[in-house]
Amino acid sequence: MGRILFFVLLGVGLYVAFRIWRVGQRRDTGGAMGKPTAAGEAMVRCDYCGLNVPKSEALDAAGRWYCSDAHRRLERDAR
Ligand SMILES: [Zn+2]
Repeated sequence: MGRILFFVLLGVGLYVAFRIWRVGQRRDTGGAMGKPTAAGEAMVRCDYCGLNVPKSEALDAAGRWYCSDAHRRLERDAR
């Protein structure tokens, strides 16, 4: 009887530990979602080569976006 009680308590203990761990995991991901990250940032398409770059790294010229200054210049010279 004592052995059965031991396994029941072990099972309950593991279940509680698992639940606490799961809640901690969910809290971690929830907090990360609120922060702006490079991966979650809005992407813009380079008007010259079509490459998608994060908006903070892209260069804009007259409403168009470019991945680099070289492409911005090349596109301007082509016109
Ligand atoms: Zn480009």
